[in-house]
Amino acid sequence: MREDAIRRVVIVGGGTAGWMTTAALARVLGENPTIDICLIESDEIGTVGVGEATIPQIVLFNAMLGIDEAEFVRETNATYKLGIEFVDWTRIGHRYVHPFGFYGLDMKGVEFHHFWLKGRTLGDETPLDAYSLSVMGALSSRFAHPRPDQPNSPLSKLGYAFQFDAGLYARFLRRLAEASRVRRVEGRIVDVARNAESGLVDAVVLQSGDRIPGDLFVDCSGFRGLLIEGAMASGFEDWSSWLPCDRAFAVPCESSGDRQPLTRSTARAAGWQWRIPLQHRTGNGYVYSSAHISDDEAAATLLANLDGTPLAEPKPLRFTAGHRKRAWVGNVVALGLAGGFLEPLESTSIHLVQSGIARLLALWPTRHFDRVEIDRFNAETQREYVDIRDFLVLHYKATERDDTAFWDYCRTLPPPAGLADKLSMFRANGRVFREHQELFTETSWLAVMVGQGIEAGGYHPAADVLSDAETLRRLHHIRDVVRETAAAMPLQEAYLQQIGCSLIPVKRAS
Ligand SMILES: Cc1cc2nc3c(=O)[nH]c(=O)nc-3n(C[C@H](O)[C@H](O)[C@H](O)COP(=O)(O)OP(=O)(O)OC[C@H]3O[C@@H](n4cnc5c(N)ncnc54)[C@H](O)[C@@H]3O)c2cc1C
Repeated sequence: MREDAIRRVVIVGGGTAGWMTTAALARVLGENPTIDICLIESDEIGTVGVGEATIPQIVLFNAMLGIDEAEFVRETNATYKLGIEFVDWTRIGHRYVHPFGFYGLDMKGVEFHHFWLKGRTLGDETPLDAYSLSVMGALSSRFAHPRPDQPNSPLSKLGYAFQFDAGLYARFLRRLAEASRVRRVEGRIVDVARNAESGLVDAVVLQSGDRIPGDLFVDCSGFRGLLIEGAMASGFEDWSSWLPCDRAFAVPCESSGDRQPLTRSTARAAGWQWRIPLQHRTGNGYVYSSAHISDDEAAATLLANLDGTPLAEPKPLRFTAGHRKRAWVGNVVALGLAGGFLEPLESTSIHLVQSGIARLLALWPTRHFDRVEIDRFNAETQREYVDIRDFLVLHYKATERDDTAFWDYCRTLPPPAGLADKLSMFRANGRVFREHQELFTETSWLAVMVGQGIEAGGYHPAADVLSDAETLRRLHHIRDVVRETAAAMPLQEAYLQQIGCSLIPVKRAS
């Protein structure tokens, strides 16, 4: 046993980030009897309580925790998700889907989309959607799990995620974590005691006067960043000039009975509205720029655009796009909203928690807290934020919309350097490059660039390995296979019922 090993881990906060972290640490480190894991949360302060849509990496996280998927889906009122439908983003009346998974089939070592681009030059105007099983399945309300055992079927590479009740997910993880040796302390932290010599945090002090000491503190205290900012003064990198939306209203409404496995994002006058169908209700929210619309107008717009009766008053939320300059300072690591925030346009926040946990475990420290490891953690965290930011800005930048001051601002904004480079590469010859294992794959960049009307100036010359006639023949064949496979997928409703979800009777708005 190393003398300098971490013995006491304190997780500050019991929102989604706190319980994801605690469950993961309990799973990976919990069998070590010398480690004490303690989570502190305050019922009085509460959690953000939104965060319902995810991306496919969550499947891996749940599997790592040993979660039974059917039980998780039942317990969190979850639905399946095959992508995000974007409505009115390119122009009013236009829609496209950013799917999980792949388009078509790469051929002769050349990416599929170059054959699709070549097909267009030959007069085949079939949209890219027709080559995605996720899109074709989702639009007809169908879902199936991937079938890696059928390598010749488009089902083999289907990607999927979930939409769920974030509060129920945190409760589910809490039950899981508390089944191992994790302690939960209820109470409000009122002070943070730092060591005068080292500057490290020694303990947090509760309103009751109790002192909770620790070697390592994971700050999951939400936007306030109680330790990372309050005690360690990390600093905040503010990206609101690129992502001007700074407020949201969230409201659940009755389900309309729509069972498409899709999150929907509809562009509005000063931002966008999400619609997330769960088993028992639909989650909605309007993310907007307060410089371009009043709170009252935003709330009214949201309430006027629900597909069922609202089930609560709209809940206001405020945020600033960006991240802590250093997510790890001394013996404090910030995860979740304490670490930063990027609007939920591509459902990335819960994933950022998950990847932060993976990074923390990979660089699990000793009580010496080596500088080089902390620097690595911070550099990788920052890179991940930058990559996601650039992908989000693409949605705002690549638009024809000029109907409001908000869209004029977004459309004419000079893009960040990484995004500018990706746009030029695509505009030249349809190239899509994924940098350094960035989160969003070539499929994602392609989906949004094509979906939002960016035109490729050409295709990869290697696509001429197939003659014109053969290219058109194969494109036709691939979309036939995709259409037939999609038609054979079960309806999501049947799928959910089959795993024991008791879908409530649908109430329609009058
Ligand atoms: C408008 C909006 C929409 C979103 N949509 C999505 C989405 O669709 N998909 C997605 O992945 N993510 C989404 N997110 C992000 C997601 O909600 C958060 O990433 C996730 O909930 C994690 O939050 P958290 O646990 O970091 O913070 P919180 O939920 O704020 O939890 C903070 C915890 O810290 C505790 N705490 C704070 N101060 C103290 C104190 N002094 N003493 C003791 N305890 C304290 C609180 O009690 C609470 O338990 C969205 C966020 C917003 C704002």
